[in-house]
Amino acid sequence: KFIANKIAAGEVVDRPASVVKELVENAIDAKSSKIIVEIKEGGKTYIRITDNGVGIHESDVEIAFERHATSKIRNVSDLDSILSLGFRGEALASIASVSILELITKTRSSDAATYLELHGGVVRERKEVGSPSGTSFVVKNLFYNVPVRLQFMKSNVTETSYISDLISKFALAYPDMSFRFISNGTIIFSTSGSSSVITNIANIYGKEMARNMIYVSKIREGMALQAYISKPTLSRGNKQLQVFFVNGRYVKNKIISEAIEEAYKTLVTINKFPICFIYLNIPPNHIDVNIHPTKTEIRFNNASAIKELIVTTLKNKLLEENL
Ligand code: ADP
Ligand code: MG
Repeated sequence: KFIANKIAAGEVVDRPASVVKELVENAIDAKSSKIIVEIKEGGKTYIRITDNGVGIHESDVEIAFERHATSKIRNVSDLDSILSLGFRGEALASIASVSILELITKTRSSDAATYLELHGGVVRERKEVGSPSGTSFVVKNLFYNVPVRLQFMKSNVTETSYISDLISKFALAYPDMSFRFISNGTIIFSTSGSSSVITNIANIYGKEMARNMIYVSKIREGMALQAYISKPTLSRGNKQLQVFFVNGRYVKNKIISEAIEEAYKTLVTINKFPICFIYLNIPPNHIDVNIHPTKTEIRFNNASAIKELIVTTLKNKLLEENL
């Protein structure tokens, strides 16, 4: 069983950022309004995710680390599980199998919190402790028992930047939730959960960038577009910052990238690297989600209509701005 978990871990967790991704998704699924991510040394030696969500009931704490725990804990037919980010039920089993993991969790209705410690997926200690409602995972010494994985790790700076990018995207995708990212004891950024995307952009990327963004929205044929795009005059290094959310999830998509390029192409003062945060809400049947297991890459069934919507909406706004 532990070997199977270790093999599965190769697919689910390949670096500190993927541990953070799985644990943050669980915190979101747990209806948290506040999520704190703390790492040390790029997450290689220490990752802590603290949330104020529903917690794990004391009778489920150990089951949560079994593979495919999801269906054992949740009723798969309930709407929550259909809308949730987690569906495979193997993240916790996988992460636990390749680390030293500590969990503290408490539901609102229980009196005490449960502390559980696992080494390589084996429970070493369980006790009651005092703690507020919610859940906190500490993942120490990731891959301590899979030395070959450690070789694929990049520098602390690079691993930290992967995690920082990831949390930025979560914060932008869920503007009504507060996120805080702390690395080696320093707060890198934090968002308030005030629902304002522009405020989040200011908190994450700086006030200067936020001041240079323009907002435009459009609804057409069941598709709703909201875009925060850089003014044609904003010039910015050589790093492309274009982030897309479709139906609330961060995605990668070529059609949207092409649409942005086309919209900016028409401008006289060409901004080589426009910054764009695109939020698209479309009927679920317009998306083919089954092309990538992590569901980051998506394909549209009506790509040309979506492209057209983005190109014209952005182009019109940019032309208006350029007058
Ligand atoms: P999945 O997310 O696919 O269900 P995981 O292995 O990620 O599988 O998590 C297993 C289960 O543990 C979840 O279904 C959930 O019931 C519980 N769980 C994990 N993290 C949290 C959390 N932060 N708050 C509450 N419950 C959690
Ligand atoms: Mg999960």
